[in-house]
Amino acid sequence: MNTLLEQIVTDCGHYASQGQVAHYIPQLAVVNPNKVGIYVISENGENFHAGDCFDTFTMQSVVKPLILLLALMDSGSEKVRALVGVEATGKPFDAFNYSDQALTGANINPMINTGAIALCTLIEGDTYDIKFARLLELARKLAGNDELDVDESVYLSEKETGNKNRALSYMLKAYGLIDDPVEEILDCYFKACSILVNCKDLAQIANVFAHHGRNPATGEEIFSKEFARYVNATLATCGMYDGSGGFALNVGFPAKSGVGGGIMGVIPNRMGIGVFAPALDKHGNSVAGVEMLKRFSQVMDLSIY
Ligand code: GLU
Repeated sequence: MNTLLEQIVTDCGHYASQGQVAHYIPQLAVVNPNKVGIYVISENGENFHAGDCFDTFTMQSVVKPLILLLALMDSGSEKVRALVGVEATGKPFDAFNYSDQALTGANINPMINTGAIALCTLIEGDTYDIKFARLLELARKLAGNDELDVDESVYLSEKETGNKNRALSYMLKAYGLIDDPVEEILDCYFKACSILVNCKDLAQIANVFAHHGRNPATGEEIFSKEFARYVNATLATCGMYDGSGGFALNVGFPAKSGVGGGIMGVIPNRMGIGVFAPALDKHGNSVAGVEMLKRFSQVMDLSIY
């Protein structure tokens, strides 16, 4: 398997030249666009990897399934579903163009910025510092890595320049979807996006989702099957931004990408995959990352459809 992964990394590395690293967060623009890594945890728990899989990068939107999961664990699926819908929007993750009638919970989903920001309010905790600390704790537990932490420079860079997210949050507030102070909610959201991980961390997290909340390595049930289904279904329909349909067709399993260049792939009942390659396509998905997952899915026959 390691030979296959090495071949995939070698074959797909050049796709980076078809994309660009994210520029709208200054600290993301300084990343080396030619990094490529993949990490796979297979059905019997074996670990395989190739390329720059131990390089760290910020989770960015890959944290959204974790925000959704913690909101579900803390507030239950009825409250989550009432606040944020599950339909694909067909719009970019930070779109503004909702018509006057359209900014209702039903028109957003947990994998776009408005949905994830709104769901931060359903995480338990008296302060947003406490809510974030609980989210970080969950990320560490799912990844089996107590060292996970925030990249301060990316967090500060997002906080300083995140005016689009401020505007989206004030829209949520204007339409009555959130009550709490925008800056406090966003502080939790920006820190969440800035959690540093590597491909192995993403593969471990994905593997727990693949096993419906159970960590197959320890046997621990971290969350319920019901919540795993909720998150995995949302990943399948909305996890790859407005490229989710093409990804379902070409790759064929639930996944979540982030503008840091990471993607986690969840193959239900089978495996967890983490890939990293920072150059992005026009949707915000890692170009080489998607290509690596496509090749791997074809060779291993992983499409669930
Ligand atoms: N922190 C980023 C933002 O909110 C996350 C975007 C992403 O990865 O899609 O703009």
